[in-house]
Amino acid sequence: MAKQALFFLALLAATGFAQSPVGPKEVDSVYPAAHELYIDIHQHPELSSHETQTATKLAARLRDFGYEVTEHVGGTGIVAILKNGAGPTVMLRTELDALPVEEKTGLSYASKVHTKDDAGRDVPVMHACGHDLHMAALTGTAAVMAHSKDTWHGTLMLIGQPAEETISGAKAMIADGFLTRFPKPDVGVALHVGNDLAAGMVGITPGIYNTNADSLRVTIYGKGGHGASPDTTIDPIVIAAKTVLALQTIASREVKPGELGIVTVGYIRAGTKNNIIPDQAEMGLTVRTFKPEVRRQVLAAIDRIVKGEAMASGAMREPSIEHYESTDSVYNDPALADRLRAPLEAALGKQNVITAEPITPSEDYSVFVEQGIPSLYFSLGGADPAKFAEAERTGAELPSNHSPFFTPDVEPSLRTAITAEVAVLRNLLGRN
Ligand SMILES: [Zn+2]
Ligand SMILES: [Zn+2]
Repeated sequence: MAKQALFFLALLAATGFAQSPVGPKEVDSVYPAAHELYIDIHQHPELSSHETQTATKLAARLRDFGYEVTEHVGGTGIVAILKNGAGPTVMLRTELDALPVEEKTGLSYASKVHTKDDAGRDVPVMHACGHDLHMAALTGTAAVMAHSKDTWHGTLMLIGQPAEETISGAKAMIADGFLTRFPKPDVGVALHVGNDLAAGMVGITPGIYNTNADSLRVTIYGKGGHGASPDTTIDPIVIAAKTVLALQTIASREVKPGELGIVTVGYIRAGTKNNIIPDQAEMGLTVRTFKPEVRRQVLAAIDRIVKGEAMASGAMREPSIEHYESTDSVYNDPALADRLRAPLEAALGKQNVITAEPITPSEDYSVFVEQGIPSLYFSLGGADPAKFAEAERTGAELPSNHSPFFTPDVEPSLRTAITAEVAVLRNLLGRN
């Protein structure tokens, strides 16, 4: 990967980095249509792996702009390609999916959608992560790039990835031949909107951008019986309780101070009635780390503690530990992050491009990076600047992504997203 990145940077150097700045008029000309799509998609959110209408709408727009669009890549994914002479292949990615969250923003265009989830339960649906804004931005950017083919050359590849929230869509696209059916991207770009930055700003994090995520299901096996005769039982609830507390010593006593090692027990399920000691208890864990060696250390410690607590309590059977979901942290190519700062500063103003700390939520964009696509994944400010300044002053928290109250300040963040994407793409697809 490093070798490929070097080759790519050398290729860019040979082109002399010539590029056209992004004019506000270019963004003005595509903004109304992008905004309209935002409202439409926001009102019609779809859950992970079920983004059929969303993908159809996106594909139709991109076809109208002259892109060659392939649908149903890895389920509902789309790949849109615009060829414009010799040059590198540059990928821009958006997600397609929404979340089972009931929208409480009170906006006139708030989602009222309910659907059945994969388990058959009725759930509300909301674009609570801002993927609707990413899609709207991608179409605005697609239009600008299609209307200004004299400003760049090479192959522009826009992808709509399904099922990001279940960290399965990127893998599904790769499994469906993404790297062989289409030109392999030399470089990739993605962004994510959030309230930790004011609208109008972007954040760049060279190197590790976010966390490795591991999901574990732990089942502790005890021996059930009467709640009034604990001496005849092995109580899995007591073992679970001790285990939860012991797990907290991983971060505080085992991981080197300053390194990130989050272990959260998100649920405990056990028992049916107050006077019955159940025969098993289940716990759901999420583990977040930045570094691979810390990840290995934390996972090994969980294994040891879970088994050790059960053994210490006399459990007759070893607990089961299922590692059912995982994704790696997204790595931002430092050289790429460094060189894309200049076009972002030129387009947005130097004061609007900051260096940001790595974040703790996770993402499956890492799958593309691991396939040898050096990338920049950057943060897009979504917060209303006045509310952001007020929150900074008072120490209040603005709603985070996945909150029922999450909403970006649409116009400035969408305009900034399009401006930033065009600036970055024109730089990467620089004219000779
Ligand atoms: Zn999310
Ligand atoms: Zn997201």
